[in-house]
Order: sequence, then structure tokens, then C-alpha cells
Amino acid sequence: MTARILCVEDNPQNMRLVRKILLHAGYHVLEANSGQQGMAMLETEAVDLVLMDVNLPDIDGMEVTILLRKNERFARLPILALTANAMHGDRERYLAAGCNGYVPKPITRAELLGAIAHTLHRQALSAQR
Ligand code: MN
Repeated sequence: MTARILCVEDNPQNMRLVRKILLHAGYHVLEANSGQQGMAMLETEAVDLVLMDVNLPDIDGMEVTILLRKNERFARLPILALTANAMHGDRERYLAAGCNGYVPKPITRAELLGAIAHTLHRQALSAQR
């Protein structure tokens, strides 16, 4: 079954790059360019994994993640932070917010697909238990 990936990203160039890589890899891509739109889409769409930009125009991506984790329905939804500021301490901040991991910017095909495959695989394994 094709995994459905929601990309929450306000930068059109980054969105275009992510879309191109994911479609080419055979994923189904859903797109939101703000935190509010991302949360609204999660209410109505089936999503297997979220790529969450940290700097969004309305709500910080990590605030969105914290809100989602408070909802039982999204407690185990795989979320990967998309971030240009993967400095010391940032990784801890993303994990503390509830992200499963992060993909550093500039985004590369190998890192994006690797992180997604790894996260979906771990999710599948934990669902079997
Ligand atoms: Mn942004």
C-alpha cells in the first residue's frame, strides 16, 4: 500500500523538491503550507507520516507537533521535523516536542527517503507488538 505523506512547509521551493522526490519514490503526497492547514488536513485525510517544517508562518512546527501529541488520535503518528537549524540542542528540542526524528535542510533525496523509510519501518514493527 502506498504510504500517504503530509508535508507541512511554507517555502514553495522546498515543497517542490519534497514533492518531486516523494512522487518519484512512489509515495502519495499531501501538502499544507501552514500549521493550521496541516492540522486541518490531518482531521480529514488519512496520513501515514508528516514532514513538519519548524519555521511556519502561523504556528511553529514544534508547537503543532506538541498539539498533535496531545490528541490520542495522533499520539503515534510518525512526524519528522524539516529543519535548517539542526544545531546542538535542536535535535533534543524536536524529540522533546514529540518528533520521531528530523531531516536537515538543505534536503537531499538520500536523507529524506532514508529517514522516511526508517521511520515507517519502525512504526510497522511497533504496530505488530
Ligand atoms: Mn518555513
